[in-house]
Amino acid sequence: MATLIDAKAGSQRPRHPEKANRPDAPSPRKPDWIRVRAPAGGVYEATRAIVRENKLVTVCEEAACPNIGECWSQRHATFMILGEVCTRACSFCNVATGKPSGLDAAEPQNVAKAVAAMGLAHVVVTSVDRDDLDDGGAQHFIETIAAIRAAAPTTTIEILTPDFLRKDGAVERVIDAKPDVFNHNLETVPRLYLSIRPGARYFHSLRLLEKVKDRDPQQFTKSGLMVGLGETKEEVMQVMDDLRSAGVDFLTIGQYLQPTRKHAALERYWTPDEFKALETIAYAKGFLMVSASPLTRSSHHAGEDFAKLKAARAAAA
Ligand code: SF4
Repeated sequence: MATLIDAKAGSQRPRHPEKANRPDAPSPRKPDWIRVRAPAGGVYEATRAIVRENKLVTVCEEAACPNIGECWSQRHATFMILGEVCTRACSFCNVATGKPSGLDAAEPQNVAKAVAAMGLAHVVVTSVDRDDLDDGGAQHFIETIAAIRAAAPTTTIEILTPDFLRKDGAVERVIDAKPDVFNHNLETVPRLYLSIRPGARYFHSLRLLEKVKDRDPQQFTKSGLMVGLGETKEEVMQVMDDLRSAGVDFLTIGQYLQPTRKHAALERYWTPDEFKALETIAYAKGFLMVSASPLTRSSHHAGEDFAKLKAARAAAA
């Protein structure tokens, strides 16, 4: 379980002040199929060193991702821009919440330097939610994309954005920066939004994905869901239909893992066979690519998956 105190901040600041007084929600015992590789080894350490040297934040660490040992050992990290404190308080998420500090103007260049130093063929850039900024952080995304294009012209770029709720014109500007993949996660089924993603709106997120496809049909769109929060299979299938109506190309589905006892309760572990069944159903509904397994995360194997996505589009043409 991740810590409740933000040790990185060098203080006793609670990482999730809004969750501190919530009752504990114990998780069921982890099944055998949730096995992760312990972080270690030369390449893992080299990735860590590049992240530290460039003073970067990764969602791999901030979200306590179970795949960090595997990904960092393959020089794959997902950079988190716009700081490390989020203005939302989603009940599933381990990213620290509170009032963020000002933007780091050097961050786009530092991300680009790290991408070039790591020799990445494909990079995923995500961010915290910044409701406090007039544009929700759109300009910072745009500058980061431009800096990566300049420093590493052959690297393909995937962005995993917040929802830019009530930030008129922001999404359009980010689409026009032309990332190769535009990812925005729906995270869960609409019935659970109020308890799991209280600051977000299901149909706004869906409309965002549709807007990307309307404005730039060549841009790949991607979205992800967690299961294990109490949703039914039928509800997941309805979300698949909604995403296909919005023209989304790539769906990821993974098991929710509870970061601490103060986070949303983990209702149950879906079995590997159930994930396989979801994958089959999603392909039948017309997604170009589907990744569904207990440890699937939206940025897991993103580079390999991008190559498969392009091949799937070419085959379907
Ligand atoms: S799956 Fe994504 S967030 Fe997790 S370690 Fe890999 S790159 Fe980082």
